[in-house]
Amino acid sequence: MSAVETTAKADHAIVTIANVSKFFGPLKALNNVSLAIEPGTVQCIIGPSGSGKSTLLRCINQLEKIDQGAIRVDGELIGYRRVGDELHELTDPEVARQRLVTGMVFQRFNLFNHMTALQNIIEGPLTVLKRPRKEIVAEAMALLERVGLAEKRDSYPSELSGGQQQRIAIARALAMKPKLMLFDEPTSALDPELVGEVLNVMRDLAASGMTMIVVTHELGFAREVAGDVVFMDKGELVEQGPPQTVLVAPKQARTRDFIAAVL
Ligand code: ADP
Ligand code: MG
Repeated sequence: MSAVETTAKADHAIVTIANVSKFFGPLKALNNVSLAIEPGTVQCIIGPSGSGKSTLLRCINQLEKIDQGAIRVDGELIGYRRVGDELHELTDPEVARQRLVTGMVFQRFNLFNHMTALQNIIEGPLTVLKRPRKEIVAEAMALLERVGLAEKRDSYPSELSGGQQQRIAIARALAMKPKLMLFDEPTSALDPELVGEVLNVMRDLAASGMTMIVVTHELGFAREVAGDVVFMDKGELVEQGPPQTVLVAPKQARTRDFIAAVL
């Protein structure tokens, strides 16, 4: 905890990860990871398979529980409430409320296959936010425009390309009005010719001021859009800095080897 409260950067950060470790049985998937993300910035995370990138995102949005350390999102300690000197676990509804701050887009598109594009986007706001349907549909249409798929409103996922499905998945996450978007290798499952259209939507989102944490192997995108890049290996945060440093002139041998292998 003390690291959260003493890190100067944490004062403005929208996400503060302080000395976080996560175990799966004997495996240490995250080893004492600390990271602060400023609002309106894009943090890219790179690293080999199994290095803990997805686990880190999943801990931020409470799909996994951390074993050590603390994570703050939008000013709140996640998962716990401090009562005197003790930390008490939050109830499920409290966790659900905290999770609304964060939108997540996965490698696989995870759309509801029995729903149209529009239905996929309005489902969350209708059931969770409990706002008038007319308003929600109007906002969903604006989001469909924004991702360039207004004409696909009545198409089912099976009628859409992977790139289109992923753009719908982004619109669906945005419909909940998150303050923070997490992307876990959003283009890794796509045919190469469809990668660009998804990266374009993400680029626009970044330009609109959205805070984003993006796990990606698209180093060109990272170089262009990221404020900061971190390289992870074996559960550790090995190197962090601006893209011009981490991607172009990395200081650590492990980062250099990884980048040479990806390029
Ligand atoms: P990355 O996203 O960088 O490929 P992950 O975060 O998915 O890495 O995984 C980090 C490590 O944790 C890997 O060794 C992986 O096998 C392990 N791991 C991830 N999720 C689980 C789980 N639910 N149960 C057991 N081990 C897991
Ligand atoms: Mg992963």
